[in-house]
Amino acid sequence: MRKNIAAGNWKMNLDLDAGKKLASEVINMTADEVSNDAEVILIPPFLHITSIKQLAGSSKNVFVGAQNCSNEASGAFTGEISVEMLKSVGVDYVVVGHSERREIFGEDDALLAAKTKAVLAGGLKPIFCCGEKLESRESDQHFAINKEQIEKGIFGLSKEEILKVVIAYEPVWAIGTGVTASSDQAQEMHAYIRGLIADKYDQETADSISILYGGSVKPGNAEELFSQPDVDGGLVGGASLKSRDFVDIIKAF
Ligand code: PEP
Repeated sequence: MRKNIAAGNWKMNLDLDAGKKLASEVINMTADEVSNDAEVILIPPFLHITSIKQLAGSSKNVFVGAQNCSNEASGAFTGEISVEMLKSVGVDYVVVGHSERREIFGEDDALLAAKTKAVLAGGLKPIFCCGEKLESRESDQHFAINKEQIEKGIFGLSKEEILKVVIAYEPVWAIGTGVTASSDQAQEMHAYIRGLIADKYDQETADSISILYGGSVKPGNAEELFSQPDVDGGLVGGASLKSRDFVDIIKAF
């Protein structure tokens, strides 16, 4: 059955000392306080990954992710990081298609499909993000937009491959805004996405894939969101930068 996951995307925040302090606090507090079997993924900037992985080494349920990767294997791609490099420092998950990558860095569906393939080919697990902008929701295009992102991004995968993918539904209007999708809105879209997977693959496959919600998840709303039948956890930005808040979110399952 699918896993409950709390993933903390630090984005471009925290220097190395601050990142190590945050990770140590989360790892220790999780060991002391969390009784559920949720998987915790810390997603620091590339530079901090080796140190954070060392800190997480002894923990059985804390994993480390990267925020991005190249679709290329190696070569003259100044400033890029390959999947093999991430694997060599112990990364478990790679975020693909965060809305900030789509919007600010112009990453399109074809590139994101290539990145997803590269992550899987390297033996790592993609956290594939989709989500609509406010104008799409207001014009009732939100299902169509998410369908298109999912179809173009991950429906070229085999059944064996898609079973290794974690999906994160992140409505752009809720990311970093303090505005959270209601639990009904999140459940409605998660059920829709799971239905797309069932139609394309089969129900068992759809039921095995974790679908996370992202967009202003906080300790105060995590429990209600995570209690929805098709919401298997959260991809958390701002609240993952405070150990107390993030651990309270992990405890919300
Ligand atoms: C995110 O970074 O993916 C995110 C959802 O951010 P926040 O929780 O701050 O809205």
